[in-house]
Amino acid sequence: MSNRRVLVIGIDGGTWKVLDRAVEGGHMPFLADLLARGQRAVLRSTLPANTAAAWTAFQTGLPPVESGIYDFQRWDRQSPRGELISSGNLPKTVWEVAGEHGRRVGVLNLPLTYPPFELNGFMVSGFTTPGMEAGWTWPPELKGQLLEAVPDYRIVVKDDVNIYRPVRDLEMTLRFMGDLLEKRAAASEYLIGRFQPDLFMVHFHATDFLQHCGWYYLDPEHALYEPERGAEVLSRFYGQLDGALRRVVEAFRVAGPRPFPLLVVSDHGFQAHTRTFYLGNWLRENRLSFTGRPRRAAHWLAKWTLRALRTLDVFRLRRVLLPRRARDRAVPIARGRPGRVIYSGGMEDFARGCANEAYLFLNSGTKRLRKEAERMLKALRDLRDAETGARVVKAVHRVPADSTGRGMPDFIVEPAAGYAINGPFRRNKPVFETVDPHEHYQVGKHAPEGIFLAVDSQTDYPAEVGIERMAGILLDELGVPAEGLGELVRRRGVMSESEQAAVRSSLEELGYA
Ligand SMILES: [Zn+2]
Repeated sequence: MSNRRVLVIGIDGGTWKVLDRAVEGGHMPFLADLLARGQRAVLRSTLPANTAAAWTAFQTGLPPVESGIYDFQRWDRQSPRGELISSGNLPKTVWEVAGEHGRRVGVLNLPLTYPPFELNGFMVSGFTTPGMEAGWTWPPELKGQLLEAVPDYRIVVKDDVNIYRPVRDLEMTLRFMGDLLEKRAAASEYLIGRFQPDLFMVHFHATDFLQHCGWYYLDPEHALYEPERGAEVLSRFYGQLDGALRRVVEAFRVAGPRPFPLLVVSDHGFQAHTRTFYLGNWLRENRLSFTGRPRRAAHWLAKWTLRALRTLDVFRLRRVLLPRRARDRAVPIARGRPGRVIYSGGMEDFARGCANEAYLFLNSGTKRLRKEAERMLKALRDLRDAETGARVVKAVHRVPADSTGRGMPDFIVEPAAGYAINGPFRRNKPVFETVDPHEHYQVGKHAPEGIFLAVDSQTDYPAEVGIERMAGILLDELGVPAEGLGELVRRRGVMSESEQAAVRSSLEELGYA
């Protein structure tokens, strides 16, 4: 059996755009040293470049079209309310494959690992852990021990997300984020020292949170760039990140006698956006106002029935009489202009997804409606922002039909540079909105280009590494065959109703749902 060891450090949202500047500014001497010794590459994220999709691909070797995990939730054409993804949905991970080959494994804070699952080693769940009171470690008794060793260790949970978004007080935000880094480094030291894992991964999430709300401090190309405070963020926060990297690597070095390869990776990169496009609102404005022949009788009947029901709504009759789907569908019918309103007899088309790519689910059953959908897709591809004249959509990707059964959308809409897309229809929102860093949490969005750095590895890596290759790379470095990786597995991990409610609300707070 191979006795190789591997250390992996995940930097969520990590991008060379910022890290190179921090290194050049002298704020990350440890990373500078790693870069001098290692092989750097660009890590190609998943489509969509979403945290949940990307870390799933990272752990399982499967891209979203194969795992069916493309966001923190998944939907299907018939259910606009999403199903929350938990660790129970993950196909077999690299951690389990390594464990089956007798290797001791430790995973700290990786997203989508709640509820934590059984390993030959330990697991501490990351984002979307519903709350600090939950059971977020495997084995279960580890939670108390970790909290004793690292008091105030925290996973970012529902109660935390309000603290720093948007940046109202940079000092407070930097302290909160810096504390997350420190505690995670301390937890790594404790866990590595105690368990001496052969394969250990720590995930730093603070980088992603800080970059979402503070991207205008970090990107000179951002329209709202603030160089002076940006210099402070680079030196303080990225300086602390450098210290955290050094502590983790040092702890792993001390824990075992042999040299080891170190892999530093992110799930996606980052880029600026200054406008948000509300796709759901655009759909309501365009898609629902069909120019086809109106079904007058059906329309008027629906309209007056609904009006009557609304009047009687004191008895909550609408809720009782109409199934949920019909209620959702009923809104545009009742509000529409006579003669220009569609009543397809099925679900209307809808969009989901927030902050980056959006997902389109089409319910156009008849030939005529499918034609209308094609027209709509073309209009979307060609769409320009009337205020800026800029192109809004970079590409509309058709998802292979055989994967839509796994809850994949029919189309993934990728925004053009400078734009973020919000999928769902939002009351009181226009189709386009200018980002205000004092009001909105997200002033930076994900980019498909992340980071990859391999230090002390015997393998030659290409200049670009797809994130779904990472699980295989880790096993290779460890000397373990990739048997069973990505296979369907049964897990007990499911979240309770109240846990799901907590997770949904933190996703909403962060603009992820
Ligand atoms: Zn992320």
